[in-house]
Amino acid sequence: MARNDALLRIHKKLLDRRAELCRRLGMALDDLAQHHSTGGDTADAAFDAASEALASSLAELEARELLQVERALAKLKNGTYGRCEGCGCKIPIARLNALPYCTHCIKCQRQLEEEGEDAGPQRYDWSRVRDSNTTEDIHVNLSELDS
Ligand SMILES: [Zn+2]
Repeated sequence: MARNDALLRIHKKLLDRRAELCRRLGMALDDLAQHHSTGGDTADAAFDAASEALASSLAELEARELLQVERALAKLKNGTYGRCEGCGCKIPIARLNALPYCTHCIKCQRQLEEEGEDAGPQRYDWSRVRDSNTTEDIHVNLSELDS
């Protein structure tokens, strides 16, 4: 019961976060649109380019977080939220409170990170990707995939 209460609180927090991210993403996109429409001299153009890059990388981060929020909300809906995708154990509420988007227990997360650090593209274990049915928490470098 206590766990359900905690999950409800996290659900509320995720909904708030989603609204906030949507708002900020909307603003970032508006900013980008404005920068594109202004002409200006070269100094302005350089500044615009820099702020545009910053805005777009921020927007990218926020878009990524939004995706994580959506994923967590979907899991709450179908009842798989808070279950480790690695070993299937229940992730402790304390961890979920601190990291509402986490999909793995501490043990599995640590294992993933260790593998991510020294696993080159050759050593990448694709069976693991299939098994866990998700790739978001495994550090996949797109440039590595291209080579
Ligand atoms: Zn686990």
